[in-house]
This record gives sequence, structure tokens and C-alpha cells, in this order.
Amino acid sequence: MPRGKCLKGALKEKESNMKIAIVGLGVAGSYLLNVLSKDHDVVGYEMQQEGQFDAVCAWGSSKVELSSIFSRIGVEFSGYVLFDGGTLQIELSQKTLEIPLKGLAAYDKHQLELDLTKGKNANYGVRVSRETFPYSKYDLVIDATSLQRALLPRIKEQMLVPCVEYMIDYHEHGMTPYNDFFVKPFPRNSGYFWYFPLGDHVAYVGAGDYFRKHNDVLDAFNSEHGGTIKKKIGRPVRLSSPFLCQPFSQGNVVGVGESIGTVFPILGEGIIPSLHCAELLVENLEAIPQYEVSVLKKFKVFHDVYRLIKLKINDELSTLRHARLMWNTYQTMRTQEDRFGMKVKLNDLRAIIKG
Ligand SMILES: Cc1cc2nc3c(=O)[nH]c(=O)nc-3n(C[C@H](O)[C@H](O)[C@H](O)COP(=O)(O)OP(=O)(O)OC[C@H]3O[C@@H](n4cnc5c(N)ncnc54)[C@H](O)[C@@H]3O)c2cc1C
Repeated sequence: MPRGKCLKGALKEKESNMKIAIVGLGVAGSYLLNVLSKDHDVVGYEMQQEGQFDAVCAWGSSKVELSSIFSRIGVEFSGYVLFDGGTLQIELSQKTLEIPLKGLAAYDKHQLELDLTKGKNANYGVRVSRETFPYSKYDLVIDATSLQRALLPRIKEQMLVPCVEYMIDYHEHGMTPYNDFFVKPFPRNSGYFWYFPLGDHVAYVGAGDYFRKHNDVLDAFNSEHGGTIKKKIGRPVRLSSPFLCQPFSQGNVVGVGESIGTVFPILGEGIIPSLHCAELLVENLEAIPQYEVSVLKKFKVFHDVYRLIKLKINDELSTLRHARLMWNTYQTMRTQEDRFGMKVKLNDLRAIIKG
């Protein structure tokens, strides 16, 4: 239990120029260090060593939405784009879908996160622990540690999908296995295999599966297609929705990003939601209870999508009884095609859920 001041009290005392610690300098943490350092006394802690920092992720996201998020803080996003997608192929058991893309791109997430922390008070190689952290030195402590949720209480309904990915260079072959984004879901939507091009004959080849069959699929793909493995990384991704990741705060600690469940469960997509969550925190920095209400509201539909995936994984999904979950998932994506970076059709979603 953090020993620091309670949030309400601390924030009332100091409404500006707060002393803030950000733990975890990934998507949300690097963004917040950059933005909050302008008005506050902010220090960032990241457990990975300087020079060895890695953004464990497949780096795929909507460049339309990211350009707009980063333009709001004066960062030009286009320079980080590595590959512009045209069509996403989704291989199902009976057919292959060809999804027209609307801005899905691969970008240099690693470089962007490092650039956001440049010139700021960022301390790499510091693994923060809940037992020893000096909470009382700060007005506010932000837990941006995604999977670890290092400073907040453990959550009750934890759904984690283990993932592994390889960065593979196909230069020697002169050609790549695919020319664009490719995905193959596992049966029961328990995860998927992905091939995300990074440009110049390099790609992320990865897979995540709740039932842990991902390594078999990856090994088979790599022995068929070869290539030079430049690195192998991985970690589980949290699919539990924000609703299930409460509490969002304790003492003077507040969570942001995947630490409080901002991953769109059907896609395992957490970059944009974590940045949206970080934006909400900036807007409500002086009103954390309001931030918590806003997070629950903004990510309400994530709980429906989570339930849909959980029912499917457990083989309990009924197209009739659970039609509302499917419809809400569809509507969310259909009405935000630019944010998701792709054209969305109900029949495609139905086919994906059917398997
Ligand atoms: C293999 C894989 C592929 C993915 N691909 C995609 C994708 O293509 N597109 C997409 O949108 N989403 C993807 N995701 C999900 C996405 O990467 C995450 O949801 C997103 O990065 C979460 O952002 P965050 O800021 O909450 O945490 P992160 O970006 O994960 O950052 C957390 C940081 O905290 C640090 N940290 C952890 N514990 C401590 C500690 N105790 N002390 C100090 N530092 C600590 C970590 O080292 C890390 O740098 C993928 C996830 C995985 C695992």
C-alpha cells in the first residue's frame, strides 16, 4: 500500500507545478513525460537499460489517428512511418478475406518513444517496486507499466495472452513471404499469427495464443520461409477490459494505458487506446476521480468486446443470445474506420468470429 498522500488531498494542495513520477516509459509513459514536463516537475523511470530499450510490440497502428494525436503535442508523426498498408489479408479456415486499409501502417515505435523522452528527466535501468518506491516524494505517481501494473493492486479477472515475435530480415531471399499485412486467427479467436511488414525486406512475424499454440505456428512459419532473425521478443498482452482493471488509483498512484486495460481485445491493439487514456489523464490531472469516470466511459465498449472474445474462447458464444456484443463491436469499428485504419464490414467480422 503506497504511503503517499491521498490523491484528492495532494491535488488540492498543489494545483499547478506538481511533482510527478512516471513509472514505465513505453507508449503512454513516454507521451506523458514529454507533455507533462512542460508545466510540471516530472521524472520518468524505465526498467530497461539505456541503449537496450525495446518497444515490445508489432508497431502496427493507424497513421491517421496517430498523426492527429501527435500533432496535438507538436510532434510530426509521418517521419516515423516505416510501411504503409494497402490490404490486410485475413486467412480463415474456409476463405481468405481481403480488407482494404485506411491508414494502417507500421511505424518506428521504438524511435518515437525514445525521442519523446529526449531532453526530459528520464532514468533508464530503474526497476520500480511497490515495496520500496518513495511515494511521499511526489504529488502524483503514474503507473504506466502495462502488464506489470507495478504499483497498483492486482486485478481479479486477469486475461493474458502470451505473445512471441521475431524481427526477420528477408534480404538474402530477395523477396518477402507477404507484401502487405497478413493475419491468421487461431481457432476460437484465442489469438492470431501476424506478419507486419516494416519495409526494406524486414518484418515482424509473431503470434499470440491464449492456448499457447503460438510457438508451434511460428516455428513452422520460420522453417518454411527462413530469413535472418534480428531479434526475438515477447510478453503477454492483457485483454481484461478497463472495467475489470479497477481500481485505477490507490494513494497517490494512478494507472494509465495497458496497466488499466486499454487494449482493444479482438485485435490485441493497445497503442492508440493507451495514448487516448494518457490524453484523458492530462485533461484531468487535477481531478483524478473525474479521470476515472472518463476512462470507464470512453472504454465502456472494451468490456463488450472482451466478453465476446472470452465467450468465444470458452466455446460459449451464441450468435443470437450475444448478438448485442457482436453489434457493439462492429459499430465501434465501423464508425471509426480511420482510427482503426481499415474498412469494416459486418460480414467480415462475422466470418472472423465464426473462424
Ligand atoms: C508482442 C506484442 C505485439 C503487439 N503489437 C501491437 C500492435 O501492433 N499494435 C498495437 O496497437 N498494439 C500492439 N500491442 C499492444 C501494445 O504494445 C500495448 O498495449 C501498449 O504498448 C501499451 O502501452 P503502455 O504505455 O500501457 O505500456 P508499454 O508500452 O508496454 O510500456 C510499459 C513500460 O513500462 C516498463 N516497465 C514495466 N515494469 C516496470 C517497472 N517495474 N519499473 C520500471 N519500468 C517498468 C516496460 O519496460 C515498458 O517500457 C502488442 C503487444 C505485444 C505484447
